[in-house]
Amino acid sequence: MTDINLASELEKLFPQTVEWRRYLHENPEPSFEEWNTRHYIYEKLKEFGYEDIEQDVGGGGLVTYVRGEKFGPTIAFRADFDALRIQEETGLPFTSKNPGVMHACGHDGHTATLLSVAKVLKEHEDQLAGSVKFIFQHAEEVLPGGGKSMVEAGVLNDVDAVYGLHLRSPLEFGTVSYCSEYAMAAADFFTITIQGKGGHAAHPNSTVDAVVVASYVVNQLQSIISRQKDPTQSGVLTFSTLQAGEGAHNVIADKAVLKGTVRTFNPELRNLIEEKINSMTESICKAHGATSEVNYVRGYPALYNHKEETELVRQLFTEKLTDVSVESIPMRMGGEDFAYFLQEKPGSFFFVHSGNEEKGIVYPHHHPRFDFDERALLVGGKCFASIVEHYLLETVAEPAEVQESLRD
Ligand SMILES: [Zn+2]
Ligand SMILES: [Zn+2]
Repeated sequence: MTDINLASELEKLFPQTVEWRRYLHENPEPSFEEWNTRHYIYEKLKEFGYEDIEQDVGGGGLVTYVRGEKFGPTIAFRADFDALRIQEETGLPFTSKNPGVMHACGHDGHTATLLSVAKVLKEHEDQLAGSVKFIFQHAEEVLPGGGKSMVEAGVLNDVDAVYGLHLRSPLEFGTVSYCSEYAMAAADFFTITIQGKGGHAAHPNSTVDAVVVASYVVNQLQSIISRQKDPTQSGVLTFSTLQAGEGAHNVIADKAVLKGTVRTFNPELRNLIEEKINSMTESICKAHGATSEVNYVRGYPALYNHKEETELVRQLFTEKLTDVSVESIPMRMGGEDFAYFLQEKPGSFFFVHSGNEEKGIVYPHHHPRFDFDERALLVGGKCFASIVEHYLLETVAEPAEVQESLRD
């Protein structure tokens, strides 16, 4: 079994991996509308020799396996494939052909990487001790996300551990990073509507000024973070939008709408902030004679990387990926629906750095000029390959009952 060299096979396949990435990049589709993308992945998997490909899993995902002939665990790899509603400004030769839609998060890269792993492993199916489940996930970028519905559809029921990766630009190419335990935040969203009473700007006494009340709400709610939260816990509360009035200098607005986001790691802190936003908004508005309505929407939960599996990827990457460095990185406040997978089964979500200052790849994710160094596709493939080698190519002892049944 040790004669298999997945890394060198991925290297040979690299030009094709780049081609697949560029096709996906040129033909992006927004979350929940990835019809052509799904068809493309399906056709590729067929071409590689996959016969049983489950479609529409949890709404729009695709799932297939390589099933080794020998006994062993089932390891799942996930790649997301949706794009964003952004007008691309990269000027790349394979720029998006779909106006207003762009692969600006690197999901084209995640999918191409996983396709390359699927192709290489299919050729060694009979040599594997165990199975690899390939999970191609739709709609990562938009709530409620494809991850949740795929997990609810039971996609991890037969899985022992699950792994996923995200490209990271503009962090310079040449590093793979990991973060043990909480790595990415729970991302919630809220809209607060404040109803006052409009009127003439010269006669505030006969009005309930929605702008003034909204200002109190913005100010007072900051104390949830600064005074009410346990200071050892991380939490963010940001008001991103304040809309009120119609643009006149001499009219007091009757209504104000505030929008914002809350980011946390600890589930209790998440509950506390939601509760405080509700109760404080109500009391502040009441004190000023206004009424309020809070619409708090829970987004993806915090992403928790299991300790043992994260330590395993650290070891494997350090040992097997000799041309990149492996680093620990701090937790981030961004959200990611791979969190649902890690709530269900042990595993880890790691990062392949993909920026390149010299080539001008310096823009962050979700930017109209976002891009990544395509060599990161190969590094990502090698990461998955090292996990396969660990679980499925090293001899696993068969449990007694299996050996027993084999004798029948
Ligand atoms: Zn994104
Ligand atoms: Zn993403």
